[in-house]
Amino acid sequence: MSLRARLGVVLGALFLVPLLVGGLVIALVLPGIRATRISNSLDRSGMAVRAEIRDECRFLGVVARGVALDAGATDPRQAARAAVRAGYADYAALLGPSGAVVASAGTMPAGSGTADSSVACSRSTGATVLAEHVTVSGVPGVRTAVVIEAVGTRLMQSLRSRSGVGGDVVLAHGGRVVASTADPATTQVVLEAVAGKHGTVTSHGWLMSATPARPGAPFRVVVTERTPSISSETWLLLVVIVVSSATAAALLVAVVARGLSQPFSDLTEAAERVARGDLEASLTRPADGEAKRLSDAFNRMTGELRRNMTALEQSRGDLRESLERIGDTLSSTHDLDGLLQVVLETAVVTLQSQAGVVLYGAPDQLRVVAENGLHEAGLSAPVAIAPGIGVLGRVVASGETVRGRLSSGPEELNPAATEPRDGQILAVPLRSMGAVLGVLALYGRLDDRAFDPADEDALRTLAGQAGIAIDNVQLHQEAERLSTTDALTGLWNFRYLSMSLAREIERSTRFEPPLAVLRLDLDNFKAVNDERGHAVGDAVLRELAHRVQEQIREVDTFARYGGEEFVVVLPETTVEGATQLAERICSAVRRDPFDVDGGPLRITVSVGGAAFPTQGSSAATLMRAADKALYVAKHEGRDRWHVPAQ
Ligand code: GH3
Ligand code: MG
Ligand code: MG
Repeated sequence: MSLRARLGVVLGALFLVPLLVGGLVIALVLPGIRATRISNSLDRSGMAVRAEIRDECRFLGVVARGVALDAGATDPRQAARAAVRAGYADYAALLGPSGAVVASAGTMPAGSGTADSSVACSRSTGATVLAEHVTVSGVPGVRTAVVIEAVGTRLMQSLRSRSGVGGDVVLAHGGRVVASTADPATTQVVLEAVAGKHGTVTSHGWLMSATPARPGAPFRVVVTERTPSISSETWLLLVVIVVSSATAAALLVAVVARGLSQPFSDLTEAAERVARGDLEASLTRPADGEAKRLSDAFNRMTGELRRNMTALEQSRGDLRESLERIGDTLSSTHDLDGLLQVVLETAVVTLQSQAGVVLYGAPDQLRVVAENGLHEAGLSAPVAIAPGIGVLGRVVASGETVRGRLSSGPEELNPAATEPRDGQILAVPLRSMGAVLGVLALYGRLDDRAFDPADEDALRTLAGQAGIAIDNVQLHQEAERLSTTDALTGLWNFRYLSMSLAREIERSTRFEPPLAVLRLDLDNFKAVNDERGHAVGDAVLRELAHRVQEQIREVDTFARYGGEEFVVVLPETTVEGATQLAERICSAVRRDPFDVDGGPLRITVSVGGAAFPTQGSSAATLMRAADKALYVAKHEGRDRWHVPAQ
């Protein structure tokens, strides 16, 4: 269930429940309240009817006194007639001392019985009349004046309208009806309901109030009113009010629920967009209070995420670039120092270090082959160090990684090296062919974090890759050496000789420096092999190489041409120079016997020389000229040289 729906239910309950309870209370309690009010009003109406009857009786008393006075002043008959004619009473009479009628006027109301009904106002006789009498004095033969009023329809309607009741008025005496505005059946029901009771009685859907008789008002008065109930119109009105209020409440609830839940809906929608990877999602709807704080915090959060993402992508790009560079370098570079520099730079960038250094080299002396950021970090590069000395020296000696904070005392420092005294360090050994040949060390972090085990793993991996690359470089260098050197003597081979000679001829052709070549051929070497064996022959070849090597310069190229023939290429050398060298070679070989297995052996060599460009202007012609000269030397008896003059 959505938040909005739940809010709707709660708010709806808050609005509608009181509304419905209020409606029910009105429907149930209101009739009771009205009944109480009507009951009070009925009591007052009953007393009002009784007061009316008393007033009527008082009026009849005044009329009776008037008749008595008139009878004395005029004639009794005249007095009675005047009262009836004026409409003050239905019947008026003057009685003698015996009670006999002396004079009368009007019609005695039915049921009045006798003229003695004059007691009706003070004490009811059950007759449907009100009567009053006074004693007459001063009129001969007359003792009493009587007036009688019938309690008829007119009086009853008058009483009813004056009392203000909506029902009927019933007058009773001794449990019997005297007069009623209701029909006989209803009147009977009313009388039975109030029999023996005072106050308000409810019966048959009617409220009845019974008021007892009083002197001067001789009847028991019962007034009725219909029991209040809610009419269908009222019900309809109530339903209309409830329905319209409910509709208005529902609309209000919908608006309030929407207003309350909108920020959460917006937040949910934006969070779902972020979850799908859309970091541009933000909350833009204007808000205030908590919703504003929420949307501000969300927008700050996505902004921070975007910034972090950008930084991450940037650093990922840097990393990819570094990895591509190191991949290219490791696979193609055979420059060991350059390679270690790239490895170090990659390590510094990847592990966000301040500076780094690589020491590499011979087992007894490590030298700095790469450094990065030392100067910027205020550190000095350590000079060459010996394994076991200082922090880095110990890494090389033990092959163990060092990771943590430097806190080296003076005794730990290599006297010949300047290592940082404090700060973070991560140093791993560099291995080549299984042996530790160096150390890769990083100093400090850009964000001051300590190096952790993951950093250590990364640097070890990098150092492992660097080790493989170092192996490759060394293998490559060895292969290259083997491809250009002679395995037996260690001299350059024919291939290298060809390249070197071509290069020197090119140089001499362009810049015209002198150039000469010497060809050497051992004398009677076949016999050495035959007499002392092939191994001794090999030893002789090696010794010859050694003796000649001692005679030539660094810039000369001394190569084994093939078999027991050798060539020396002599840059910047004239015929004279070549001649002198040829002589020195012959005597160096000749001077001492060769110390080989089976006893010393006398060896000689013949040498033929040629100069560029006079004897040959190309490699082939120059070599051929030298060969010819060699032939001459052989032909002339061996153990000698021949270098033709210009
Ligand atoms: P000459 O004075 O005319 O040069 O006589 P020579 O015996 O040296 O004659 P030749 O040049 O024909 O013989 C060369 C011999 O050198 C033949 C071969 O057995 C020997 N030889 C060539 N290469 C090697 C090698 O690598 N080791 C050994 N032990 N002998 C070799
Ligand atoms: Mg030969
Ligand atoms: Mg020979």
